[in-house]
Amino acid sequence: MTQTYAAPKGTADLLGDSARSWDTLQSTAREVFTRYGYTSIYTPIFENTEVFTRGIGEATDVVGKEMYTFEDRGGRSITLRPENTAGVVRAAIQAGLTANSAHAKLFYAGPMFRFERPQKGRQRQFYQIGAEGLGLDSALADAEMIMMLWDYFTTLGLKPASMRLLINSMGDEVCRPAYRIKLAAFITDNADGLCDDCVRRANTNPLRAFDCKKEACREIMDRALRLSDELCGECATHQDTVLRLLDQAGLQYELDSRLVRGLDYYTRTVFEIQVDHGLGSQNAIGGGGRYDGLFEDLGGKPTPCIGFAIGAERTVLALEAQDTAIAIDDSLCVYVAAVADEQREAALAMAMELRGRGLTALSDLQNRSLKAQFKQADRARAGHVLVLGEDEVARKGVTMRNMETKEERFVTLGSVFKMLTTDER
Ligand code: AMP
Repeated sequence: MTQTYAAPKGTADLLGDSARSWDTLQSTAREVFTRYGYTSIYTPIFENTEVFTRGIGEATDVVGKEMYTFEDRGGRSITLRPENTAGVVRAAIQAGLTANSAHAKLFYAGPMFRFERPQKGRQRQFYQIGAEGLGLDSALADAEMIMMLWDYFTTLGLKPASMRLLINSMGDEVCRPAYRIKLAAFITDNADGLCDDCVRRANTNPLRAFDCKKEACREIMDRALRLSDELCGECATHQDTVLRLLDQAGLQYELDSRLVRGLDYYTRTVFEIQVDHGLGSQNAIGGGGRYDGLFEDLGGKPTPCIGFAIGAERTVLALEAQDTAIAIDDSLCVYVAAVADEQREAALAMAMELRGRGLTALSDLQNRSLKAQFKQADRARAGHVLVLGEDEVARKGVTMRNMETKEERFVTLGSVFKMLTTDER
């Protein structure tokens, strides 16, 4: 026997319902985000490695442990994108999208790659949908971004009561450096009780110690000074405005001073939406924040930005956990059946004509018997079967069968389209 192959560890084929769920997630994103003035952007799936090391930060788990990096045949260091914000910003700088203080509202959808330990809701190739508002500095933009994310999840069918919106501020270059020093000192003072990773973070990325899942570390970090209490005046005002706007919009949130997202580029507002059921510890279905320094990190001019990314697999799991079927487009199709070989070509021609008029139409391509064609029509959930036999051809028409009511009637060729589109199901 010839060897067969399975998809690589941490990847999954999207087939059948999972492929259609992904389609729906993307079409809903387009529908919702368009209402906010967002248009799509497509960037390469791989970038020069530096885009991520500079953008996301050397000290992050993503850059330190999770990137798929390789040398291409020209000796360049290339990385499969672990997220898409850095790529979008690289593209915006290259194209001058935000030159002369212009702003850009962009969204994307596609696969991302991280070498993580696979588990439910965590894969090595996973799909994200994201939005980036470039050149926007006002707290209004933060509020609109969060409202758009919430709008997206509720439009998909997630119940508001099943979601928790967490918000925090990461400060900025004025207040964060001093806080980092204090936090690093706290970590060093408590090194005995903390895990090696957290102790190491004192020098590289002390805020990430809040994210450690180990109970002992959590207890100690609970006593640490919080950045939310050390914000500078401007960051505090920004945060207050965002929260007031969310209050005015009737959106409920929880202030979570432990929320520090995994990538280095965040400044000020960060947010995450979590669900309580169905996902275990991988319960964040989407999140994002403001990243006012990323343009400069990637060689551009200072440009304030805010964005988010949604995890597609986790969103589908969250919908399944609350028993919400994803609205999959299953508009009915028409099946044109040939009684005998003599009518097969006419059946194909009729299917082509119906497609030309905008209907989904199928005909047999495998010389099946009439009975087998009806089975196919059932499987495709056809609403009607149009039967073409010798008699129908002679009378210039078809026998139209309504698959639900089982009613059959002769319809002339000239009125097939009208009958199909008006027949009550
Ligand atoms: P991040 O880019 O880390 O901010 O992640 C944004 C969202 O992507 C998360 O909230 C998750 O829903 C999803 N996500 C991140 N990493 C993975 C992964 N390895 N597998 C599946 N989903 C992921």
